[in-house]
Amino acid sequence: MTTETHAPRRDAYSRPAARFQDGLLDVRASALGQCRRALWYAATEQPVTNPTEPDSLTLLEAGNALEPVVVRAMQRDGWSVSAADRDQPPSVTVEVSDQLTVTGHPDATGYLPPEGGAVAAVEQFLFGAEEPAGTGDELVIEIKTRGPEAFKHWQTLGAERSHPESVAQAACYSLGLFGEVRDIVIATLDTGARRWEHEVIPAARAERAWDSACLRLSALADHHEACGTDPEALPERDFAASDWQCQRCPYLNLCQPGEATGESDETEAEPTGPVSDEAAQAALREYEQAQREIKAHESDKRTALETLQHWLQRKGVEKARLGGSDKTRTVGMVASRRYAVDHKRLNALLDPEQRAEIVTEQTSEYVRVS
Ligand code: SF4
Repeated sequence: MTTETHAPRRDAYSRPAARFQDGLLDVRASALGQCRRALWYAATEQPVTNPTEPDSLTLLEAGNALEPVVVRAMQRDGWSVSAADRDQPPSVTVEVSDQLTVTGHPDATGYLPPEGGAVAAVEQFLFGAEEPAGTGDELVIEIKTRGPEAFKHWQTLGAERSHPESVAQAACYSLGLFGEVRDIVIATLDTGARRWEHEVIPAARAERAWDSACLRLSALADHHEACGTDPEALPERDFAASDWQCQRCPYLNLCQPGEATGESDETEAEPTGPVSDEAAQAALREYEQAQREIKAHESDKRTALETLQHWLQRKGVEKARLGGSDKTRTVGMVASRRYAVDHKRLNALLDPEQRAEIVTEQTSEYVRVS
C-alpha cells in the first residue's frame, strides 16, 4: 500500500532517520542504506553522541541548495521537469511489511527530453504541443550533488554500484507516486566543475535495488515485531568501527565508545616512529624545492623536444640519427593512441554484476601537498 500527502517543510527535511508512528517503524527513504542499529537508536530517540560537524552540515546544506540549479539546467537541456515545492513537498509512504514503512519526499518527476534535446523541446512549445515536452512515461528524478571525486566515482561505476541506496530511494518514490517501479533517473551535479549528468536506470534494475533494500529492512521489521519499541534491545551492528559509516554515525560513542577517529589507537598513525613538527616542516620545504626543480627541468625538456620536432619537420622525415653528448641517438615522431570508455553507455547497457567484472576498483594511498 502506498500513500501520497504533502508535508510541511519543517517535517519534511528534518525528520529523524527512523521513528515509531501508529505502531509501525517508519524509515526515512534517504536513510535506506543506513546501519539498522543506527536506525533503531533514532527510532527509540537515543541521545546523539557524535553530532554532525558544522563543516559537514554546511556541505549538506550547500548540496540541498543546489538542487534547483540542477532542475533548471535539465530544463534548459530540454527536459520537462516538475520539481517538488520545497515548502510543501509531496510525501510518499510505501509499506514494506505490516511492521515497517518507508517515507520520503521525491525531488522531482519528469519526462526524458525529446530527440534533439533543448531545441526540439522549444519547437514543441512553439508549435503548441499539448503534452509536456518530453517522451515516454513520467519518471522519478532523484537529484544528487557530489564533489569532483565522488562525481567521477559515480560516473565510472554507475549509481547501482556507487550509491545503491539512491537507486532504492528513487524506486521507492516511483512505487509511491505511480504504483509501480518505472525507470528512474539519477541527475548528479559535480559541485567542483559545476556540470551535471544523468543516468537512467531501467525499471527491472531499480526494482532489484528496492527489493534488496526491503530485504535488509525486513530484519529490522522482525526485530520490531519481537522487541516492540525497547531501546535496550539493540539489533546487530551492520558495520565495524573503522568503517566510514561508523566514523560518521551520530551514535558512535553510544554504540562503540572510544572508537571515534582520534580516540582510537594512536600508535597506528605512527607506524615508523614519531615525526616531529620540525621534521615535517623540513620535509615540506624539500618537497617544494624538488617541485621547483622538476618544473624547471620539465620546461627545458619541452623546449628541447619542440626544437627537435621543428628540425624533423624541416628535414621532412619522421626519424633521424643525431649525435648526443655521449652517444648517437635516434630522434623520431611517435604517434600515441588513447582509448576512452563511455561509462554512461556502458552503465546503461550492463547490469551492475557484469560491470563489476569489467570495471574494477583499486585504491592506493598517497600524500598530496596542495
Ligand atoms: S556506530 Fe556503526 S554499528 Fe554502531 S550504530 Fe553507528 S553505524 Fe551502526
